[in-house]
Amino acid sequence: MSDFRVFRLVKSYLLIVLWCGLIIAAIMRVQHVLADSAVAGDGTLRRIHVPILMYHYVSLLPEDADDIRRDLTIEPDIFRAHMQYLRDEGYHTISLYQLHDALMFGTPLPPKPIIVTFDDGHIDHYVSVLPILQEMGFVGTFFIITGRADTHDPAHVNWIQIKAMADAGMSMESHTKSHLDLRGRDRDFLVYELLGSFESLSAHIGRESRMFCYPGGRYDDAALDVAREMDIWRAVTTQPGMDHTTDNRLELPRVRVSGGTGPGGLEYLLGGDWLQ
Ligand SMILES: [Zn+2]
Repeated sequence: MSDFRVFRLVKSYLLIVLWCGLIIAAIMRVQHVLADSAVAGDGTLRRIHVPILMYHYVSLLPEDADDIRRDLTIEPDIFRAHMQYLRDEGYHTISLYQLHDALMFGTPLPPKPIIVTFDDGHIDHYVSVLPILQEMGFVGTFFIITGRADTHDPAHVNWIQIKAMADAGMSMESHTKSHLDLRGRDRDFLVYELLGSFESLSAHIGRESRMFCYPGGRYDDAALDVAREMDIWRAVTTQPGMDHTTDNRLELPRVRVSGGTGPGGLEYLLGGDWLQ
């Protein structure tokens, strides 16, 4: 083979390698942009008014209930009256994903949107809340302490129930593995508690969860850093408020529904005068 032909073969080979490299780089860039788009949105800053109601227990009060339990408990009949009130008033329940898309991309929301959240994965969320939401045609967002499901704690929903709720259209999201205070922790602890719970949810439900709730509403800068690094799309707090902005991804305020709140009390909470 002449030197010239060898030179042409080598040149062709190098050109093919160069083109392959450029194509791979372009594909990786597109994937990176797609992955980032949920975080970056379309570049427009938006503010949207959507109440995010916060419930804990929806059950009858045990005889020995202390003040904390009383404050965290709404009886099932009262909860049904709350949901009936929302339906009668023309509210539409949406997911945190719908709120996120509206804030990031301007996707339209139904009239009077509202998000109903339930913390801690109590068994009554499966027994009482799910049927009432389904009866009303509503969706809810449930923050699960995944370690409780792992240990088959009968006071909490198990993985079969969690999967059934997800299949029924509910959002099953992370409330960490162990519900411990996230403040003052090292990175390993935070990654274990946050990433561990998200991985358990996706393994059992079969799809990725992206929403998070801080245990006890407590967090610090280190917890925010890990949440940001893990690409959590939205995280809710216990701070009071009903307005959400594009850039406030990890500190969404909510409306606490305390024990003893009737439908009239819910109307007052949604009116927002208490926030002035
Ligand atoms: Zn909690």
